[in-house]
Amino acid sequence: MTHVVAQPCVGCRYTDCVVVCPVECFYEGEKMLYIHPEECIDCEACVPECPVEAIFHEDNLPDEWKEYVQINADGAENSEVITEKKTPLADN
Ligand code: SF4
Ligand code: SF4
Repeated sequence: MTHVVAQPCVGCRYTDCVVVCPVECFYEGEKMLYIHPEECIDCEACVPECPVEAIFHEDNLPDEWKEYVQINADGAENSEVITEKKTPLADN
């Protein structure tokens, strides 16, 4: 099991989530972040940190966003790890 970053993260990237992750399993895509499904330990620390409620346990992911399970898995494989907060896209 893993946590998944879903559609509300697209275009936002406040990145409040990455600083609390104890295993540094967030990866930075061009428009959103991804969680690596094999690295996430389901600690849930990131969930309340996200201002737009984009992070869900895989089991609680709304049906409309089920495709984000694969999007996170693929995205994490092809992106660089992110461990520090960055300026939000919305402020750029
Ligand atoms: S805090 Fe939420 S919206 Fe911002 S980067 Fe993290 S998951 Fe995406
Ligand atoms: S649930 Fe925990 S381990 Fe998984 S991404 Fe969030 S903070 Fe990291």
